[in-house]
Amino acid sequence: MSSAVDVRDVTFSYGEKLALDDVSLTVEEGDFLGLIGPNGSGKTTLLHIMLGLIEPDRGSVELFGNPVDEFDAGERIGYVSQQATSRGGTMPVTVRECVRMGRFAHVGHSRLTDEDRAIAEQALETVGISDLADRRVNQLSGGQRQRAYIARALASEADLLALDEPTVGVDAESRDAFYRLLDSLNASGITIILIEHDIGVVTDRADRIACINTELYHHGDTESFVESDALSEAYGATGTVVHHHH
Ligand code: ADP
Repeated sequence: MSSAVDVRDVTFSYGEKLALDDVSLTVEEGDFLGLIGPNGSGKTTLLHIMLGLIEPDRGSVELFGNPVDEFDAGERIGYVSQQATSRGGTMPVTVRECVRMGRFAHVGHSRLTDEDRAIAEQALETVGISDLADRRVNQLSGGQRQRAYIARALASEADLLALDEPTVGVDAESRDAFYRLLDSLNASGITIILIEHDIGVVTDRADRIACINTELYHHGDTESFVESDALSEAYGATGTVVHHHH
């Protein structure tokens, strides 16, 4: 079986600013990877490179065994960007319509079938927002909107979910429920890559950790991360670490 994502020797700069320095890591299918590092450490940049949204200056990326620039099965990937939580989202469609869009990749130019609609309803049910189906996406709270985007990814039968700080601005209770949802999606076989600033959440939830600060400081199972010095090394003496347990 091929890996979900394979990053090899990736270096990337924004102009003069080196954002990633010779980073290599492999995300296996079924992994729940927590991607952590201080502010400005290159997490979002690495995620964008993994998904083929930006091209590295050096190095290579494979998605499901294919060079990322040749990868054409976008429906296999669900990406929830940081902006997805912010208010004033531009989607004037209902939640149900948004989630049905997840089926378009499968039907091409033909119309959605009853089965496509049923898959979309099931996705709404899975993430617990069936009752919001007729609301407009831009009228949802941040947490509800995250769920709508995840439901869309499920409807498209994504097997990799990439989430960039999905619970910023989401209240604690909804956040816990959201992470329980991620756990159950991961248990059902979906690969998850999660950027999250709360180290406690990441070490509770993820089975593997990649800790970066331009360079990769650690990549391995969560236990070995907790026992290592990677956290203090990557965050440095001046770094502020959000660290609490539930
Ligand atoms: P993180 O997600 O860990 O906060 P980013 O990947 O967003 O970090 O950013 C890494 C570094 O690259 C930071 O120093 C940031 O200021 C810089 N950076 C990010 N995006 C851009 C951009 N579009 N242009 C110039 N510099 C950028």
